[in-house]
Amino acid sequence: MKKITVLCLALATVLSTQAKKVPAYKDPEKSVEERVEDLLGLMTLEEKVLQLNQLTLGRNDNANNMADPVNDIPAGIGSLIYFDDNGELRNRVQRKAMEHSRLGIPVLFGYDVIHGFSTVYPISLGQACSWNPELVRQACAMAARETRASGIEWTFSPMIDVARDGRWGRIAEGYGEDPYTNAVFAAASVRGYQGDDPTDLSDPSHIAACLKHYVGYGASEAGRDYVYTEISDQTLWDTYLPPYQAGIEAGAATVMSCFNDISGTPGSANRHLLTEVLKERWGHDGFVVSDWGAIQQLRAQGVAADTKEAALKAFTAGVDMDMMNRCYDNHLAALVAEGKVSQAQVDEAVRRVLRVKFRLGLFDRPYTPTTNKAERFGLPEDIATAERLVAESIVLLKNEANTLPLTGTSRIAVIGPLSDSRWHLLGSWCAKGNADDVVSIKEGMEREFGGKSELLFARGCDFDGDDRSGFAEAVATAEKSDVVVLCLGEKRDWSGENASRSTIALPAIQEALAAEIAATGRPVVLVLTNGRPLDLSRLEPLVGAIVEFWQPGIRGGAPLAGILSGRINPSGKLSVTFPRSTGQIPIYYNHRQTARPYGGQGLYKDVPSTPLYEFGHGLSYTTFEYGDIVLSAAEFAHGEKFTAEVTVKNTGARDGLETVHWFVHDPVCTVSRPVKELKYFDKQFIPAGESRSFRFDIDPLRDLGFVKRSGERFLETGDYFIMVADKRIKITITD
Ligand code: BGC
Repeated sequence: MKKITVLCLALATVLSTQAKKVPAYKDPEKSVEERVEDLLGLMTLEEKVLQLNQLTLGRNDNANNMADPVNDIPAGIGSLIYFDDNGELRNRVQRKAMEHSRLGIPVLFGYDVIHGFSTVYPISLGQACSWNPELVRQACAMAARETRASGIEWTFSPMIDVARDGRWGRIAEGYGEDPYTNAVFAAASVRGYQGDDPTDLSDPSHIAACLKHYVGYGASEAGRDYVYTEISDQTLWDTYLPPYQAGIEAGAATVMSCFNDISGTPGSANRHLLTEVLKERWGHDGFVVSDWGAIQQLRAQGVAADTKEAALKAFTAGVDMDMMNRCYDNHLAALVAEGKVSQAQVDEAVRRVLRVKFRLGLFDRPYTPTTNKAERFGLPEDIATAERLVAESIVLLKNEANTLPLTGTSRIAVIGPLSDSRWHLLGSWCAKGNADDVVSIKEGMEREFGGKSELLFARGCDFDGDDRSGFAEAVATAEKSDVVVLCLGEKRDWSGENASRSTIALPAIQEALAAEIAATGRPVVLVLTNGRPLDLSRLEPLVGAIVEFWQPGIRGGAPLAGILSGRINPSGKLSVTFPRSTGQIPIYYNHRQTARPYGGQGLYKDVPSTPLYEFGHGLSYTTFEYGDIVLSAAEFAHGEKFTAEVTVKNTGARDGLETVHWFVHDPVCTVSRPVKELKYFDKQFIPAGESRSFRFDIDPLRDLGFVKRSGERFLETGDYFIMVADKRIKITITD
């Protein structure tokens, strides 16, 4: 008996010693910060440097970033871009990291999930036209669930680069030309991906977000990709930084540094913006990853002689993780040995990476449960979200003499290169979207009008080239019909990364087809599928109605047909200006005031200086009447908050959704302010004949103030204007 007691005691001692040996970083009861510090204290310099590198795993599906497949991935690698759509390969690699690296630090798997993973929804430029951040949040939450269940816990999204040049292909990826709009959708998508608590991303349906591309990429000169930008400090604060600040405030876990040079200093070597603004002023405590190759490209940009200098510049500027540059793994340890980079700087970068991994719960649940695609993708509620987002992002640009909706039409011709396309509806960066899942325009029309109207189809022509052999059949088809739905636009790879165009007009062959169809005298509804604003100057006079469909993802056909039939009342409004010609670019609503504004904002001899379709333009099948703006008082002392209200009446016969955009204007200020700046928007359902009140709670410093080039926000006393639709009211701020 005595022997057994002694044995038990010995065993208990061994067990408790072992328990004590479990390091703190493996203890889920400890706080993230305790775990990070404990782990950091155990790591060698070599292990730390590995954490700061990202390589790829699987077959690279990004045509712009071709690199040899990475073999012999070190077990201690920090992160991998994962190109598969299930967790198997990832789990094998993760097992190596957990079991064969000395400390068992999990790998972080990332991927570009830009507008959906498998359930692809509209491109971001289209999403913004919904003016429905809650719906966008839901769509991002659905993408996050599909993504994490497929073995990826980090998306390189949202892209929140304000873009005002339709030639730039990446305009498709962001939320348009306005800083505030990008800011609102930045916050909505971050919350959708990450959930509401940025310090805990461990839920199996949450993923880490990445704000990109910090900063100013949308200002790329002449819309060419990867080139320099010329941005003053004032414009950085007015235009390009606000969406990032909003994304950081919403808790974005990571940020991606940009390719572009900003007035002489590339974004990926810009210590002021990466460290002083992002990390110190805004308090971002996650990490910054470089864009693909952006560190080694500092050589090409002329600020680093070799990859070692590039590593030094990017790292000391504040880029924590190296995406496929091989600069940090090759040079960081040597830079430490030479005293050019301190241990403390390395620790700080690693701390940031580990913090995100702990917050994601990767140390406690490193593996992705195995599920099949049917469990992960295509859930009915997700399809419904995707369809609703398409319906709300479609913009009715023109509707002369009520060409739409098509009620009581017996024969409808559906013509054009996009009439039966699935692939091109997906848009750029469509992740694991599958063309077989796409509801085409043809299919949508058949479901909507089948049995009610006769549908006739003809392709007419290709996207480009000069083959007119299909014109005769298209014209004959149009002649047999009562109305033509003409489906023109862009291929999916005409926008997105490295997909700039020197003109934003559609190719001549498509315009020629439109002219021939219009010559039949049949009413024409033009449906546009595209990833940028277009020059419609030659098409617009030919058609009775124009429907901007964007690139809707997998669920476009049905909502589009619902809008054409009148089952759905369109409510989208433009998030980007449509110029009359490419030569008007850059053209955007919130330009600064000009020296001689009378009679137009800078005249051209050949075209008006106004756009064809303004930011915020979008028609409905009903009509809305705006009352006067009512302020809670007309004069306010500095620091006092106030409200503005407007009543909107649905004066038509149909229920409808209306978005009210609240703009402000400061006519006289130390720094010339834009003619209009969007500060708030709100969308409400208004039944026919009813009115709804829309309210804007104004915080003068936030909404009427401005940021000086130093980054400080100021509010000056004096007069301001609050504007809604064609209403405007003056308010005075006193001392
Ligand atoms: C793009 C990024 C993208 C990265 C990884 C780069 O070329 O600019 O937006 O996240 O590749 O695919």
